[in-house]
Amino acid sequence: MTRRQWLPALLLLLLASSCTSAQEEPAGNYVLVIHGGAGTITRNNMTADMEAAYTAALESSLKKGYAILQSGGSSLDAVEACIRMLEDDSLFNAGKGAVFTHDGSNELDASVMDGKTLAAGAVAGVRTVRNPITLARAVMEKSPHVMMAGRGAEQFAKEAGIEIVDTAYFRTEKSWKGLQRALQQDSLKALANPDTKFGTVGCVALDKQGNLAAGTSTGGMTNKKFGRIGDSPVIGAGTYANNNTVAVSGTGWGEFYIRNVVAYDLSALMEYKGLSVQEAGKTVIKKVGDLGGNGGLIALDKNGNMAMPFNTEGMYRGSATKDGRIGILIYKD
Ligand code: ASP
Repeated sequence: MTRRQWLPALLLLLLASSCTSAQEEPAGNYVLVIHGGAGTITRNNMTADMEAAYTAALESSLKKGYAILQSGGSSLDAVEACIRMLEDDSLFNAGKGAVFTHDGSNELDASVMDGKTLAAGAVAGVRTVRNPITLARAVMEKSPHVMMAGRGAEQFAKEAGIEIVDTAYFRTEKSWKGLQRALQQDSLKALANPDTKFGTVGCVALDKQGNLAAGTSTGGMTNKKFGRIGDSPVIGAGTYANNNTVAVSGTGWGEFYIRNVVAYDLSALMEYKGLSVQEAGKTVIKKVGDLGGNGGLIALDKNGNMAMPFNTEGMYRGSATKDGRIGILIYKD
């Protein structure tokens, strides 16, 4: 090849490679997004101390997950670690600090999904498992099942060596008072009450290997009927992850998330309609609202693009990106 022949070829090659890198994220990108629930969270009903406490809790969880991803750990490990921290923090409605059912108990739901294999695990209505997200992962990895509930799930937790606590461990005065307030209203109104702060926690992550994972954990909704199961442990409603599309974790009025199959719908809109994660996120939250529900979600696509739409006053949310930047937001604006 003469110089005259190879020079244009080289230029073309350079141009082609710069186009690719402009469209696709660099290989080994890693991102983490978390939420701590959506609801009536406004500057007016927040004190500076509360704001600082929520921000610090979200930041610690993000840092923990980021360190896992940065050191080459899996998105599943990051999701579980982030959610465990938030479950242990009584600020959130998951694990310690969970809201109370109508009969004054705490019944916890959680789920996790692996975007690489589409394996999933979920637990519903457990009362003695300190970290339901860890039990959900054990259901996924150590049983042939996807979902286990109540006493059977607790028995499985014991057999898997997962920490069991006394039911009193979950109780906080704040959640107890929330139940007392809700009991004074008629139950549907209490559930629809715009002053209800939901407080569920969730995490979605993309690791260096390009694997997505999603997880969600909750005490459900204050004054829920005992035995009620929300969307959080329902794969496709509150949680979904698929390496071909997106990882999603929702928070909000669970019945509407189940009826709209929110998390899977978001993935399907990307897969079948080619919507971006932001467009798909907006679309599904609008559908929740159109049906009369409220809430939000976090979603992270396979290239590391994120969306955090909600139709409530606020949503505790945050992200950590490969460059080490941590962003935390609470309010709508
Ligand atoms: N989605 C949860 C449920 O309905 C509640 C929440 O997200 O706060 O159980």
